[in-house]
Amino acid sequence: MCDCIFCKIINGDIPSDKVYEDENLFAFRDIHPLAPVHVLIVPKIHISSINDVNDRNEIVLSGMFSAAKKIAEALGISESGYRFAINTGKDGGQEVMHLHAHVMGGAKLTVPSAVK
Ligand code: 5GP
Ligand code: ZN
Repeated sequence: MCDCIFCKIINGDIPSDKVYEDENLFAFRDIHPLAPVHVLIVPKIHISSINDVNDRNEIVLSGMFSAAKKIAEALGISESGYRFAINTGKDGGQEVMHLHAHVMGGAKLTVPSAVK
């Protein structure tokens, strides 16, 4: 059995506040929101990070953009704006090794610093 927390959320083994689902993607509210709207979009297949994108799975990942657009519209942040961010690896700040995009909005966001 996969020990990945996001795979367990997708499978329903761990509860989540789902906001969107389609054939390839699942999206839910972040448990520790950094903005009034903070949603994570994850592929249903386990892909660890952008480093594991390839010719076979990239079609799934391109859908993350249109999912972000639909989620932003549904949650009322299309016009005010939002951030779409994918942290990758240790230096990128990735904590969960199942590729995911953060969609954050609902307030003016600070610009992330390049180096802390
Ligand atoms: P990362 O730092 O890997 O880019 O982002 C991981 C995100 O997953 C964090 O913002 C964290 O709050 C969120 N997260 C971690 N565990 C859970 C969980 O069990 N449920 C939900 N909804 N979010 C989680
Ligand atoms: Zn996973």
